[in-house]
Amino acid sequence: MQVQLKNIEVEKSKTTKINEVDFDNLAFGSVYSDHMLVCDYKNGAWETPKIMPYQPIILDPAAKIFHYGQSIFEGMKAYKDTDGKPWLFRPLDNHKRLNISAKRMAIPEIPEETFIEGLTTLLHLEKDWIPTTPGSSLYIRPFVMASGIGFHASPADEYKFIICCAPSGAYFSGKVSVLIEEQYSRSANGGVGYAKAGGNYAGQFYPTQLAIKKGYNQVIWTDDNTHEYIEEAGAMNIFIRINDTLITGPTSDRILDGITRKSILEIAEDEGIKTEVRKISVTEVVTAAKSGKLKEMFGAGTAAVVSPIAAFGYKGVDYDLPELNDDYASLLKKRITDIQYNRTEDKFGWRF
Ligand code: PMP
Repeated sequence: MQVQLKNIEVEKSKTTKINEVDFDNLAFGSVYSDHMLVCDYKNGAWETPKIMPYQPIILDPAAKIFHYGQSIFEGMKAYKDTDGKPWLFRPLDNHKRLNISAKRMAIPEIPEETFIEGLTTLLHLEKDWIPTTPGSSLYIRPFVMASGIGFHASPADEYKFIICCAPSGAYFSGKVSVLIEEQYSRSANGGVGYAKAGGNYAGQFYPTQLAIKKGYNQVIWTDDNTHEYIEEAGAMNIFIRINDTLITGPTSDRILDGITRKSILEIAEDEGIKTEVRKISVTEVVTAAKSGKLKEMFGAGTAAVVSPIAAFGYKGVDYDLPELNDDYASLLKKRITDIQYNRTEDKFGWRF
């Protein structure tokens, strides 16, 4: 898909930090490229975005982001193919989801052309920041926050939409061990779990710290009402393979509609893998683990793509998952990343 670039104001950085970055040993999301996009919402409208050198932003202490947490974000990546050509993966879906989050958090929606033209203009400038070592990419963080002021709990009248980029290596290394959560919840019916609202993630930190203290890497979130149904894996959607069937929960008020999740469902069906989108209970997973029918569990999200789970803990008992040679996680990860890095034909039309 081609985008017509409009006259977005660009202030180029006089210096570059690119030579200070060790592109062979990149962590995830901890160094930032030379430029960022900033777009202000004032007087009831989004202004024309500006691209400027990466820099701190100045906010009034009364800005509502600090008091009421009115903020949303997205996570996406730019990939470079072997010819050095940059690609995005389903960026219009990130734009749609940003606006779903915006609506739920009473933030004004971002016009599609502001998002797509702003993003592509920024990436045009930052394309040398897209790393090429295997598994690496330029992680892109679009976000919106309430910059308007007031100590009264109501939506702000001014906002900032910003896009920053971070050249990043692979998110997780190796298989993880997870704890199925019995007490805390990530989200609730009627709540904001389906939105990428900043506070959703802050609320996950404490239960995750407790799980880490017990020796696990991540929490498997269960439903807030009964803690009996599996919902998400950390900040990823979750897939569970019982015998040869790949199962994931239906999206809802409580579950984020992940772009990786829906892509994996389509690729799995294309591979002839039987998929089921339905509620899956902890009892079903534990019973399958005991009888040897539980073959795989993995998280799915933009950052890690596919994050295989080696073991899970539940009610003080640990269950190991088998080592397979023909696991779905590796197959599906290869198929999705081959599309992302332009190593294969894109029959779904996802590359941009
Ligand atoms: N669930 C949650 C809670 C997330 O934050 C994310 C990451 N955006 C996902 C699932 C995966 O979504 P995606 O595949 O679009 O990155």
